[in-house]
Amino acid sequence: MHLAKNGSFAVVPLAATEQHGPHLPVYTDSMICEYVVSHSIQKLSGIMSALMTPVLTIGCSQHHLNYGGTLSYSTATYQHMLYDITESLVKCGFRKIIFLNGHGGNAQIMVQAAQDAAVRHPVWTAAASYWNLAKPALDDLGAEEVGLVPGHAGGFETSLIMALDPELIKGSAIKHDHPVNDWMRAEGSFIGKHGELTGIDGFTDSPDKASAEKGRQYLDVIVNAVSAWMLELQKTMTAG
Ligand SMILES: [Zn+2]
Repeated sequence: MHLAKNGSFAVVPLAATEQHGPHLPVYTDSMICEYVVSHSIQKLSGIMSALMTPVLTIGCSQHHLNYGGTLSYSTATYQHMLYDITESLVKCGFRKIIFLNGHGGNAQIMVQAAQDAAVRHPVWTAAASYWNLAKPALDDLGAEEVGLVPGHAGGFETSLIMALDPELIKGSAIKHDHPVNDWMRAEGSFIGKHGELTGIDGFTDSPDKASAEKGRQYLDVIVNAVSAWMLELQKTMTAG
């Protein structure tokens, strides 16, 4: 309550519990999202006041349900859940609410929920997926060299988990020479193919080129990009 009354931001990390190929943990997206949001807020301590809510560790992962280890809300339930979370935060007194996303399946619903909340209430809202905010910096680093960015359980996410907790990776299960669906690189439009929305066999590209060193570099530029975005939001939302 106190933070809310002082004009603090509420930052809601949106993540998932879902299969991540044969080698990564099911809470890959939740681990990455928690790291990114908590470190971005830490980086801004003393500069802006932001409260991180608990990570929403279950997301909209319907397209992963054919594989083991996936817990998912349906699209409609996820939309309602974000509605309820937003209503709770507004009731607490928060007037600046940010969704920071770490799982592709949540993205469209998240943006809709953020827009709807700003229609219903006299609040500011904002929403973004970390890989979009960090895209220029990740491009500069040449992150595509390890695979699709972000892809799913490919070289990129494997690098991030190698940096965060390598013991969670089942090295013996790593599949090599995994085919990439080039249509997954489409930007600005959606292309879907039944049974391959997660990539072939549940992951998008081979993790062969992943490394902890690269993962650490990627996490650094992601945290920089997310914290820079939050700082911009503070300027925008306190000026208006
Ligand atoms: Zn993931």
